[in-house]
Formats: sequence, C-alpha cells, structure tokens
Amino acid sequence: MTSSSDLFDRARAVIPGGVNSPVRAFGSVGGTPRMMVSGRGAYVTDVDGNEYVDLVNSWGPAILGHAHPRVVRAVQDAAARGLGFGATTPAETELAELVHERVAVDGTHAVEKLRLVSTGTEATMTAIRLARGFTGRDLLVKFAGHYHGHSDGLLAESGSGVATLALPGSAGVPAAIAAQTLVVPYNDLDALREVFSVHGDRIAAVITEAAAANMGVVAPMPGFNAALARLTADNGSLLISDEVLTGFRVSAAGWWGHENRDGVEWTPDLVTFGKVIGGGLPVAALGGRSDVMDQLAPSGPVYQAGTLSGNPVAVAAGLETLRLADAAVYRTLDTAADIVIWATSMALENEGVPYSVQRAGNLFSFAFGETVAGGVHNYADVRAQEAWRYPPFFHAMLDAGVSLPPSVFEAWFVSAALDEGAIRRILAAVPVAARAAAAAAPPA
Ligand SMILES: *Cc1c(COP(=O)(O)O)cnc(C)c1O
Repeated sequence: MTSSSDLFDRARAVIPGGVNSPVRAFGSVGGTPRMMVSGRGAYVTDVDGNEYVDLVNSWGPAILGHAHPRVVRAVQDAAARGLGFGATTPAETELAELVHERVAVDGTHAVEKLRLVSTGTEATMTAIRLARGFTGRDLLVKFAGHYHGHSDGLLAESGSGVATLALPGSAGVPAAIAAQTLVVPYNDLDALREVFSVHGDRIAAVITEAAAANMGVVAPMPGFNAALARLTADNGSLLISDEVLTGFRVSAAGWWGHENRDGVEWTPDLVTFGKVIGGGLPVAALGGRSDVMDQLAPSGPVYQAGTLSGNPVAVAAGLETLRLADAAVYRTLDTAADIVIWATSMALENEGVPYSVQRAGNLFSFAFGETVAGGVHNYADVRAQEAWRYPPFFHAMLDAGVSLPPSVFEAWFVSAALDEGAIRRILAAVPVAARAAAAAAPPA
C-alpha cells in the first residue's frame, strides 16, 4: 500500500472520483494516480518520494519547468504586497501591453485589446457571448474533438476528458442550449461550407483550437485556418481562435504567430488564452479586435465580470513567465520535442508497433495502430486507433520515472527545463514502453 493509494482512497470519500478534474483520475489507463507533492525544473515528486521527469507540466503552463526561481520570487513579492484588492492594478496593464506586443507579426497585432479572466473556460464562454452580442446571432460552430472548456454549449463531441471518457457530450446540458452548437468534422472545409450555405446568416462564430491538441494533437491542414477566416468574414460571423493551449507555448506569438511567421495570411477576430499566460496560476484571457472587445461591459452591453480576474499574484506569475519565455526558450522546447519524438518513434518502429506521430510546433502525441498509419486529420481518425496500446505504454513510462498525460487523447508537454539527465531518462524509458505497447492485447 503506497501513500498515494491511501490518500486517493481518502480523496474519493470526500471528492467526486477523488479528483478535481476528471483526467487526473487515471480512468483510461488504470492504476492509482500519484499524489504529487513538489516539482522542481523538469521533475515532479510524489508523496511516496518517487521522482518523475514531467511531460505533463500542469497540462501546459509550466513551459519553464516547475518552480522557476524567478517566477517563484515574482509571486512571493506580489503576495507580500497583498493577495488581491478587487481594484485595478498596474500589472494587469503591463500584461495586456506585453500580450499586444508579443502577438504580432510584421506590425499586425492580433490582440488590440485584452480582458483577463481566471480560466480558459471563462475565456471561451465570454468570447462566444461577445460574438453573439456583436453579431446579434445565436448559432455557434465547433469542430468534433476540439475542447474549449466545460461551459454548456461547448461540450458536444468535445475533446480532453470528454474524449477520454468516450462521452458524446455531458448530462445536464439543456437540449435548447446544445441545439445552438453545430458540430463539424475538423479539417473538412466542404462540411463547413455546407453548414454555412444552410445557416450562414444565423452563425455568430466559428470557434476552433488554433491547432487541435485535446484529442491528441491534430494539426490544421495547410490553409485551413486561413479558409476559416475568409468564410466567417464572408458570412458576417466571427472567427474565435482558441489558443488556451497553444498560446505562448508553440511560439512567442502562439499558433497564429507560428503559422503566419513568413507573413500574415489570416487573423482571428477573437483569440483566447490560458495555461501559459498564468505561468501555473489561474490567469486566462480573451482578446482581439478593438471594435469587438469594446462591446464588453463597462464600455459595451455584453456583460462579463470576475472577483478574482486579474488577481495580482496570478498576474505576477504570468508576467514573469512570459518575460522569461524568449526565443531561446522556444528553441529549447522545439529541440526537446524533436528528441522525444525521434526516440519514441525509433522505439515503436523497433518493436513493430504501427503508429502515427502528430505534431503542431513543440506539441505532439502518438496514435497507435494500422488505421492511423496514413495520418490523423480529425476526431474519427483519432477514435479509430488502437487506444488499448496506450495504458501499458503509459505505465511502463511511469515505472521508469517518466510522467506522461494519463490519456492517449492528450498532448505531451515538454518544458525548457528538460536537462541532459531528464532526456537520458526518457531515452532509456521509451524502448521498454514500446515493448509494453507491442505486447498489449486488444480488449476481449
Ligand atoms: C485547457 C483548455 C481550455 C479550458 O481551460 P481551463 O482553464 O481548463 O478552463 C479551453 N480551450 C483549450 C484549447 C484548452 O486546451
């Protein structure tokens, strides 16, 4: 009996499923979740004293690794000045200015104005309300397998935990609300044009993950995002690019900056951020065109508010993280992704496990089985894989001291803190994990 399993039993008695966010429960990989007590750099340590190289990194925020001394110092300094005032603070403006400056290519700024909230769910929920208020329309288009948080209208054929649990959506969502969301296969422009030809003048917005990474990684086909921008503009609706996961992770200017690095081809009307923008504390944001953003209260009629929005301690963590995330950090992340992808691919090939590696910048994931050998472009492709190969792969990695996301439907997250020792441990673990995946048997 480990302390982790003891503590998880206690947790289950007082917390539904023992967790405060579903995927943490190890439901799809089996076994007992490790109770983590500390993290430093590339490593996390559980309550039993086991140390793991971390490829979860708080599901993305910890791009610098855990407990970066300068981020910790910034948080301590902010906390010592007071935990929050429910009034405007200078740091909020500094963060908005920094985001405006960073999310720019050749003088085009994708974020003219920014509103801070506390979670990605709030950011997308608010962006949708704003799009509806701005256009005076109700319908929303989303893509199957994309995850945008857990608000009512966004759980239909959702990614992340909804995909891991193989749910079509969620209980508790009124049919009248679900009916306002139209779900289209990802990377399928014909299907999208069809939806617009029928409902075009009633569609407030298309929301898309800038690059999908909550059903495993599924990159947008070349030109897909640009086509979304044209189609929405032609129909008087808005494009909401959800960069909660990709923003400030795949480049200094997010996926938009990465995809448009050789010249701006498309720009979303609204963009949402979360995860990295808070550096590990609860900060998220929505931003975009001034004329749309100014519809938010108090300057406009679309209401949105938050007691802890722009909290000074959280903002301090985000500001310091973004200031530290310079070009060298993004080069390190890309190189780390190259190495882990190369080593894992070699190991799977050596063991004869059919696989496909999906990549979007430094985000990546592996899908298993012959059906994915031709690549993975949408949620149906993702679901057709041999997902049963992942639990033994995952546990072999964990036993070898490498912590992966406990679901095949999630991205792997590298950090800039991955040092030689951490990389060496990953390189030693993947052949063992690949053998476990090769030996796996399909469910009876
Ligand atoms: C994580 C995520 C969200 C939700 O953010 P929370 O802070 O968990 O509410 C929304 N969209 C995307 C793309 C995400 O990855």
